[in-house]
Amino acid sequence: MDYVERVLQTVKEKNPAQDEFIQAVTEVLNSLRPVIEANPQFEKVALLERLTIPERIVTFRVPWVDDKGNVQVNTGYRVQFNSAIGPYKGGLRLHPSVNLGIIKFLGFEQIFKNSLTGLPIGGGKGGSDFDPKGKSDNEVMAFCQSFMTELYRHIGADTDVPAGDIGVGAREIGFLYGQYKRLTGLYEGVLTGKGLTYGGSLARKEATGYGLVYFLDEMMKAKKDKIKGKTVVISGSGNVAIYACEKVQALGGKVVALSDSNGWVYDKDGINLDVVKDIKEVKRGRIKEYAEVCKSAEYHEGKGIWTVKCDVALPCATQNELLIDDAKALVANGCKYVAEGANMPTSLDATEYLQENGVAFAPGKASNAGGVATSALEMSQNSMRLAWTFEEVDEKLHNIMIGIHKSAYDYAKEYGFEGNYVVGANIAGFMKVADAMMAQGVV
Ligand code: NDP
Repeated sequence: MDYVERVLQTVKEKNPAQDEFIQAVTEVLNSLRPVIEANPQFEKVALLERLTIPERIVTFRVPWVDDKGNVQVNTGYRVQFNSAIGPYKGGLRLHPSVNLGIIKFLGFEQIFKNSLTGLPIGGGKGGSDFDPKGKSDNEVMAFCQSFMTELYRHIGADTDVPAGDIGVGAREIGFLYGQYKRLTGLYEGVLTGKGLTYGGSLARKEATGYGLVYFLDEMMKAKKDKIKGKTVVISGSGNVAIYACEKVQALGGKVVALSDSNGWVYDKDGINLDVVKDIKEVKRGRIKEYAEVCKSAEYHEGKGIWTVKCDVALPCATQNELLIDDAKALVANGCKYVAEGANMPTSLDATEYLQENGVAFAPGKASNAGGVATSALEMSQNSMRLAWTFEEVDEKLHNIMIGIHKSAYDYAKEYGFEGNYVVGANIAGFMKVADAMMAQGVV
């Protein structure tokens, strides 16, 4: 049994029932084999063992009172996974499916993603099994204040800087920031994704979706292809999906489908994004309502969005939403590009199937890194006490995505896996973290 296999075995034994975490570690470690074999010094200092155990996990009780006066209790998490290259950085997820295994998988992925951006940020993630859907603003505020009443002890502008993720947008970040400031008296860049009037960065809201499409554009250019004229299917209709759709349309692509956790819409004339923004960003409604407004669209309940014929598929909802049968349907319909906007939306077997069938595949840790990269730009602006224009931030984001594509492409080529962005991104992200960990000794 080689070193990678032994570490994987231990991770499986020590983390029972954390399927998503095991899945993420398996994908990363398997693709690191060539570098691990070429660098026996990593094994001598138990680098992989240290890399797969978080530096710290905080789990806490989050009690709050709902509008009817009933006491509700949720569980809060913050996983501070790796600080070798900078303060922990990663979003907070509020969704009923949240558990420790999911937060650990997200935190683990974040280490390599953050490294890939080229910026000095370590890996972390947090959240709670609280469901903001259907809650009043008052209830969301009560939850956020209670959550921060414990979390504030563990975070800070130079130690750990959380951000948004599923279920955490501008409203939640505002409530969390207000409570942090009240508890600590500090006006500091402790959260990113803040509102523009209190330290937020222009283009942060758009960053993950735009960045995804900048990465896709580079991947297509490498094949002498372009987005213009392509048919695109995007899952989800949240922050990432909406701004991916906006950038695809700006570059001349046609987005024909979007979804949420209830179902999906197909619009043969192309998605009208103003309608989607009104439903999702203003009314906090369901994607079903799109078909009631746009008569060219049809609504389908449940899964099935990947059966829509397209050239490009952008999964932007959640983990394990594109499975082997979905991959088969995409290939059968002639899809040529899959780029992940969500974290680990594609299962391991589906990823392999896509790659074996000539689909160019971009893993989320590379293609959705624009969000955290722009969060790091928000941190820079907060430290410098100044604000860049939209164009300045967008240009930096674009250059960062070009850089991520190049390093993933080049590393894959160097190790004999040309065009395999999974291997390239994992190695590129890992090398910087490994180097920093080696330099800092056994800690
Ligand atoms: P949002 O909460 O804004 O949107 C999430 C979207 O995905 C919604 O349309 C939601 O539908 C759908 N969705 C969520 N859970 C499920 C589920 N279990 N099954 C089906 N659909 C689901 O989140 P974001 O857009 O911010 O995040 C989407 C993905 O992108 C996540 O994987 C996140 O980790 C990743 N990501 C986000 C970044 C960011 O900057 N926001 C940065 C990098 C990655 P519904 O409303 O019905 O729940």
